[in-house]
Amino acid sequence: MHCPKCSHIMAQITYESITVDRCTNCRGMWFDHLEAEKLKRVRGSEKIDSGLSRTGESYDTIKDIACPRCSVPMTQAEDPGKELSYETCSKCRGIFLDAGEFKEFKHDKSILDFLKKFL
Ligand SMILES: [Zn+2]
Ligand SMILES: [Zn+2]
Repeated sequence: MHCPKCSHIMAQITYESITVDRCTNCRGMWFDHLEAEKLKRVRGSEKIDSGLSRTGESYDTIKDIACPRCSVPMTQAEDPGKELSYETCSKCRGIFLDAGEFKEFKHDKSILDFLKKFL
């Protein structure tokens, strides 16, 4: 599979039996439907997001991309209450996160879990 942002090869990485694709160049990551949600709940999974947020930010400006699986144009999605914007495919429901974005995506949930302990 090729990266929808920079067209470099994406490598498969498996963490706790969940396999995601990470770009060998920009370190953006592709998650199939619900993979990001599943991975978010796995302890230590933020390690797979090995790219620099700074790199991710520069690729975040590329918004016109096609789904690497079904080649249809992807749509912009925003996580409510966060400054996180990512691309999602309306056909296969996969999502593309730039480097550093999975950390943000996951981080928010851990804050919630942390707060829940006090409620
Ligand atoms: Zn890339
Ligand atoms: Zn797709």
